[in-house]
Amino acid sequence: MDPIDYLWKRLTEPLGDEMVLQETNGDDVTCYCCDRKSKYWATDSYVNRQDSYLKMDVPVCAPCNALFLGTQRLGIEKGTPEKPAGFGKLGMLAGCGLIVTAKESIILTNPGWHKRISYSDNVLCRLEMVSGKSAFEYTVALIKELEPADFPVIYISDLGRKKAELVKNLILTSDSKVLISCSANGAARIDLELLDELQTFAVNDKKSWTKFKKFINDASNGRISPSDEKLQEFMASSPESLRLARLLPADPHEKLSLMRIV
Ligand SMILES: [Zn+2]
Repeated sequence: MDPIDYLWKRLTEPLGDEMVLQETNGDDVTCYCCDRKSKYWATDSYVNRQDSYLKMDVPVCAPCNALFLGTQRLGIEKGTPEKPAGFGKLGMLAGCGLIVTAKESIILTNPGWHKRISYSDNVLCRLEMVSGKSAFEYTVALIKELEPADFPVIYISDLGRKKAELVKNLILTSDSKVLISCSANGAARIDLELLDELQTFAVNDKKSWTKFKKFINDASNGRISPSDEKLQEFMASSPESLRLARLLPADPHEKLSLMRIV
């Protein structure tokens, strides 16, 4: 199932009651957000949204539209509880994360959003106030506790503001071995066993870890070449570093993002 449809089925479908839905009635409609043709949608419903740049109505499938919709179920975006100037939108919760499993959904909030979403008397799903690195640690601990039946999982590290980019980067996490962290900026695959090994190394041998981290970051950023003499020397002197370096993802961006979260 397409991840945006999975999000709809598991979490956002009730928001359809608040949308002015149109039916495709068998017509070919292409969603302006996910670019999918209506025959691939999990629903026949869409919304005509006014596009702020084009100044015209564009069709957006109901699952994508759930990111755009201002809903009382996400508290208030602006204003005060007495005088709300706009309701919260799932696709505009910049700095907040989201975990969706087959069993439950959790919005990972920061203090500002937590307060604003909590003004709702019928919040869309459970809130957990953890942000930054703690949000990631919370997610990893949760994923490790899940049963096979709880998958697939969607993990969005930052709901951000760029809805179309976010939808295009959504990838389902299918097991507890590799967590896929999605945002408008991309999707990073995080090997959780490797992350564990790196964290153990960082704790057990702080001195080597500091050097290891610097070499890996410098090599991934292109500041030094893989054949750098000092790098080679270090790897030869630290068998554990060499072993772990060989396990790191080949892609420099993935390497850097993994090193950041150890
Ligand atoms: Zn769509």
